[in-house]
Amino acid sequence: MIQPSASRVNLLALPQPAMATFVASLGWPAYRASQILRWLYQERVRTFAEMSNLPQKDREHLTASCSIERASDVQIFSSQDGTKKFVLTLADGNQVECVLIPDEDRLTLCLSTQVGCTLDCGFCLTGTLGLKRNLRAHEIIDQVLLAQDHLVDDQRLTNLVFMGMGEPLANLDAVADAVTRLTDQDWGLGFSGRRITISTAGLASRIKDVAPLKVNLAISLNATTDELRNQIMPAANRLHSLQALLAACRAYPLAERDRLTFEYVLLADVNDRPEDATRLIKLLRGLRCKVNLIAFNPFPGSPYRRPSDAAIDAFQNTLRKGHVDAYLRRSRGRDVLGACGQLGRIELNNAPVALTQIQTRC
Ligand code: SF4
Repeated sequence: MIQPSASRVNLLALPQPAMATFVASLGWPAYRASQILRWLYQERVRTFAEMSNLPQKDREHLTASCSIERASDVQIFSSQDGTKKFVLTLADGNQVECVLIPDEDRLTLCLSTQVGCTLDCGFCLTGTLGLKRNLRAHEIIDQVLLAQDHLVDDQRLTNLVFMGMGEPLANLDAVADAVTRLTDQDWGLGFSGRRITISTAGLASRIKDVAPLKVNLAISLNATTDELRNQIMPAANRLHSLQALLAACRAYPLAERDRLTFEYVLLADVNDRPEDATRLIKLLRGLRCKVNLIAFNPFPGSPYRRPSDAAIDAFQNTLRKGHVDAYLRRSRGRDVLGACGQLGRIELNNAPVALTQIQTRC
């Protein structure tokens, strides 16, 4: 990889319009921009010398004056269930995580959008870190490129979910830029928007801004009263009440045949009681949606417990009887802290938490 330096232009950081401007500033033909973008995203090259359809003098110019800034270091933790957690060290030394989750015919990559998180959901390890900074679009894309670098045989990423570290709607410009690079069919990674899901903890005022991206929207709900939501997602609920959040969901311009996903992390004796299920049915009435139930994944220091299997089944059955599509999402990668709510700490007691008890979020 070409080393970054302050004076070099990091071409991976340039959105497509900026790349077009850069190429024009060099007096090169306009199509050179798409050529370079394809090498960066579709071929994942790390040197300009590999851009074999560029004239030699152009490659030399890029080598002398530009960089391709990828994560400087990567640690990989492999779970017994096939899940892989990647810990990327960014150019400034901050670390961020993404999780590759194989499940039957799917291979899902869970992406992070911030280093840490500004919110403080009580069931989430990331929330204990506080926000260090937003990720830039190329740092989000780098997680995808990195996972693709490590696919084996005929493996192919099928789904991308913005459910890792951070609140995507608190960094929406970078997320939107990343989605453009992920979905462009000409020079980008060519993913269908139907295979991409953005999950929010409830930034109601920004939910409408997801619609133009033409991806799926998930809402991390987790409580059926403001009182309880204040307790388990205090920062999110302080910003927008449950009523405001559900009003934004009802106003969301869903495409025909699409539906919203509500994520609900089940916490034993907190939000997994029959009355919670009954209230949830009422709250969601009239919304085109499904509910993903996730049993809480414990992490050191958390006050919450995982419900019993019987309690989880009972909750799901109540929802189904109330005509709510409810699915139990199996958490993967719990042994490498790669499961929902567990991203953010790669070390415990100063020792790598390698293959025994390591976990993303809702
Ligand atoms: S669940 Fe999501 S929004 Fe809440 S603290 Fe964790 S990363 Fe942030």
